[in-house]
Amino acid sequence: MTVPTYLFHGNVWNSIQHRITTSNRTFLLFDYDGTLVPIKKQPSLSILPVKMRSLIAQLSILPNIFVGIVTGRSLYDIRNLVRIKNILYAANHGFQIHYKKQTWTHADAKRVLPLLNKVDVVLAKSLTPIKGVLLENKGVTLSVHYRNVNPERVRRLKRVLKQIIQPYDGMLKITTGKKVFEVRPCISWDKGQAILRILKMFRATDKSIIIFIGDDKTDEDAFKLLPSRAVTIRVGKNKSSNAKYFVRNTSEVRQFLENIISLKHNQRDHL
Ligand SMILES: [Mg+2]
Repeated sequence: MTVPTYLFHGNVWNSIQHRITTSNRTFLLFDYDGTLVPIKKQPSLSILPVKMRSLIAQLSILPNIFVGIVTGRSLYDIRNLVRIKNILYAANHGFQIHYKKQTWTHADAKRVLPLLNKVDVVLAKSLTPIKGVLLENKGVTLSVHYRNVNPERVRRLKRVLKQIIQPYDGMLKITTGKKVFEVRPCISWDKGQAILRILKMFRATDKSIIIFIGDDKTDEDAFKLLPSRAVTIRVGKNKSSNAKYFVRNTSEVRQFLENIISLKHNQRDHL
């Protein structure tokens, strides 16, 4: 962990621009919530702004650029929110990877599915009495959102959740994110490993530039695991992160995407 540098800082930004224009392929991967859209009280309200969608659509048709979203959301959910065809969607923290009508699901995660569905029923029964809890079955993972739960009740919520999951120790585990607990298959797999898989699937080389932008704990796994030449960007100023750079907010992410588009256009005009 180090202190990330501001992405748009003079020298830093110049060298990144140079790398984007000189690399033969750009892998541009980003998280969704808190990265492309500000965090909302209800996850279902996190609609992709028109401007942001238009930028991603423009990026997706540029030559030599590969665009992907890596999220904790379910595949169904993220594809519905974004609705852009020719980009990659890695859902459920990478347990599922979807590209052009093909979906890959982690084999070990598939095996845990029946158990996960059973736990979902138990959670619905036990957690519903806690006001504000929002349960979401995401196919390969379960989310327990507590954005709207009274802070004094969160501890109780966590205790109940732990009790329910404990008998399945070794098969299921609980992870935490921003105002969410997640029940996931106990498999060593995270956004970082999912991205490494994507880079391999789509043949990234030393000459490719890899960019990943995220805002949360689960994105740190990717910041940490990606090769040191990767441009890792955390949204929101953080004293310590595995990311090399930071931007202040989602507006600056938008600015960054706009910049990549103009760099790529200029590059093409000069060829
Ligand atoms: Mg996020």
